[in-house]
Amino acid sequence: MEYILNDKQDGCVFCDALNKTDDLTLYKGTDTMVIMNKYPYINGHLLVAPIKHLSTLDQLSRYEMGILLATVERSVGILKQVMNPDGFNVGLNLGKVAGAGVEEHLHFHIVPRWFGDTNALTVFAEVRVIPEHIQTTYANLKPHFAALNLNTNN
Ligand SMILES: [Zn+2]
Repeated sequence: MEYILNDKQDGCVFCDALNKTDDLTLYKGTDTMVIMNKYPYINGHLLVAPIKHLSTLDQLSRYEMGILLATVERSVGILKQVMNPDGFNVGLNLGKVAGAGVEEHLHFHIVPRWFGDTNALTVFAEVRVIPEHIQTTYANLKPHFAALNLNTNN
């Protein structure tokens, strides 16, 4: 079963993103990062990862888990504000058998969903719904991530 991320390539897409300025990296914090999926299954598909190149949850400290989940929560909040979706699929693919395209660097998928976009099953197939160009979405999201402060409670 093919799943969300299928960007097979040399190196690690997350670690690579930390070392360059590109039009996919929305947020680089001290512990976490947010990038746009280069091969989204739907517009606004984001990936949230720890800065550390780790493959499993148990390699994270409790603090790092908290920050990672806070980054997921804030990313969902920004997507809500900017793109007004009706819902979200948020999840982890752990291991190749579960569909992880980049299994060596832990990452959450955040997939915004709209009524009528497609159904739950086709998200997991090869149907892609991208009505807005990824660069435009990036430009819309970037200012919000630039202002992201994970140390506040709002
Ligand atoms: Zn990595």
